[in-house]
Amino acid sequence: MKPKAKLMSSKEMPIGGVIIEPGSTSKEETGSWRAERPVYDATKCNQDMICVQHCPDMCIIVVKDEKLGAKRLGTDFRYCKGCGICAQVCPVKAITMKPEGEFKK
Ligand code: SF4
Ligand code: SF4
Repeated sequence: MKPKAKLMSSKEMPIGGVIIEPGSTSKEETGSWRAERPVYDATKCNQDMICVQHCPDMCIIVVKDEKLGAKRLGTDFRYCKGCGICAQVCPVKAITMKPEGEFKK
C-alpha cells in the first residue's frame, strides 16, 4: 500500500517516535488487525461515558438524546483496535472482550 504521508528513516525520527499527521486515524481503517472485539451489553450500561473518555481511538459511537443527554450506541469497528481499555474501565462490566475469530465464521 502506498503511504499517504512522507515516512521518516529511523535516524531522522526523534526519540519516542512522532505522529507524522495528527488526526490521521480517521483516514485509515485501523480495525483490520484487531484480535479481540469489545462486545457491548446495552442492558447493563448506565451511560456514564467512562469508556468513551478512555478509548484511544474515539471509536465508541455516541449520540445526543433530547431526554438522556449523551447516549452510547456501540462501537465503530472500522477503527477499534481491540485494546480492551473500554472493558477494563467499565464499572458495570457492560463490555466483554471476545476473540475476533468468533465473528468471522
Ligand atoms: S477495544 Fe480499545 S479501541 Fe476498541 S472501543 Fe474499546 S477502548 Fe476503543
Ligand atoms: S463505561 Fe460501561 S457503563 Fe459506562 S458508558 Fe461505557 S459501557 Fe456504559
